[in-house]
Amino acid sequence: MIVVMRPTATQEEVDGVRRTVEEHGLEAFLSVGEERTVIGVVGSDIERVSHLGTLPGVEQVIRISSPYKLASVEHQVERTRVRANGVEIGQGQELVVIAGPCAVESREQLMETARCVKREGARVLRGGAFKPRTSPYSFQGLGIPALKLLAEAHEATGLPVISEVVDPANIAAFEEHIDILQVGARNMHNFVLLKAVGQSRRPVLLKRGLSATIEEWLLAAEYVLSAGNPNVILCERGIRTFETATRNTLDLSAVPVLRSRTHLPIIVDPSHGTGHRALVAPMALASAAVGADGLVIEVHPDPPNARSDGDQSLSFEEFGTLMDELRRLQFVRSADSAPAQAPAQVPAFSEDIEDVRDRIDDLDARLAVMVQERAALALEVQRRRLPNVHGHDVLRERALLERAASGTTGPMTPVELTMVFDALLRASRAVQRRHAHWVTEAQAAEAEAAAAGPGG
Ligand code: PEP
Ligand code: MN
Repeated sequence: MIVVMRPTATQEEVDGVRRTVEEHGLEAFLSVGEERTVIGVVGSDIERVSHLGTLPGVEQVIRISSPYKLASVEHQVERTRVRANGVEIGQGQELVVIAGPCAVESREQLMETARCVKREGARVLRGGAFKPRTSPYSFQGLGIPALKLLAEAHEATGLPVISEVVDPANIAAFEEHIDILQVGARNMHNFVLLKAVGQSRRPVLLKRGLSATIEEWLLAAEYVLSAGNPNVILCERGIRTFETATRNTLDLSAVPVLRSRTHLPIIVDPSHGTGHRALVAPMALASAAVGADGLVIEVHPDPPNARSDGDQSLSFEEFGTLMDELRRLQFVRSADSAPAQAPAQVPAFSEDIEDVRDRIDDLDARLAVMVQERAALALEVQRRRLPNVHGHDVLRERALLERAASGTTGPMTPVELTMVFDALLRASRAVQRRHAHWVTEAQAAEAEAAAAGPGG
């Protein structure tokens, strides 16, 4: 039940409603808006307070038909924006990319991945410390030491960190080191855990259960909300179906369905949702297109040798390419732009076919040299950038493509010319990315050597 107070209601009148609710053994959740206060009433046998509409200051009482109350759009029209150590997820914010390894395996693996995903534009670092594996013989995670490594990665990169909590007994340790508590798919129905994270001060990312309906998932969120934690993020990560071509069936329709039912932020995990590296980028783009507030992407320095979920983990290169694509489509913000200038030229013709072929071979050779020269210049641009930021300037890239497409006359259509330059740009980005990785790793090694001191 929702009690909507009049805009003119006094604090005393609000307190009066709250007191009446509590006297009847029910709970009141206040939501103080700019114009008015709304009070969510939850508990069993709500009929006991059916007279709330007659209390002073009350404008109307709305009954919520859905079994979840606090998670519902009736309870809160404005969409929730969850803040986690400097990053905001939800309502009006750009797509937040959470990236990192499935499991924290070592200091080196985590730090290298953290530097890469930060440079490429991720906003939150993920890393499993406690892995709820299907088999008891699989790698179970490094436990508490991994939480400390995540805190160290946060110190080094500034990225807030998220990790999955499986045991209420560990929540205090998580609160010390971790910014967002993840409740995994296998624990979505673990009500003891849900109530425990509901009492935490940290935001909670709640994954959809392997075979949970959207309603069951929202009721799981309701456990967290009703325990007092308003900062819940829902994460679609695929469900079990008869389909075996993918690890799970990523239910992207859940995003708009949830949007119509809840005010909570919604993010998508295409890594667990598909289970295959090649499917992660297309489904990530689809998730962004369908209106997700964020993505969870597994990234590993050496996916084939990952201790868990290597098949679905992106390499640094693949993750960088995905981030470029998200920027090109403007789901993620780009660096600031500064358009430049450069025209093109058309050659004259000869009669003999062999002559023409010779000229083509000659031109290709010169083109190859020019393409290398262009790459060398792209590298010079990268050298002048901060190595630890992505530097991907979509506006400049677009201006360059437009110039290339319209600046010349010849047999190629603007679309065909654009295809050529698009390939050139992607290859140049790969060169820049390799260089940035090399520089950040060298700097990190240098900083570590300096910290260790002489002879350290
Ligand atoms: C994870 O994100 O590490 C994980 C185990 O995911 P899920 O709970 O969705 O399987
Ligand atoms: Mn995983």
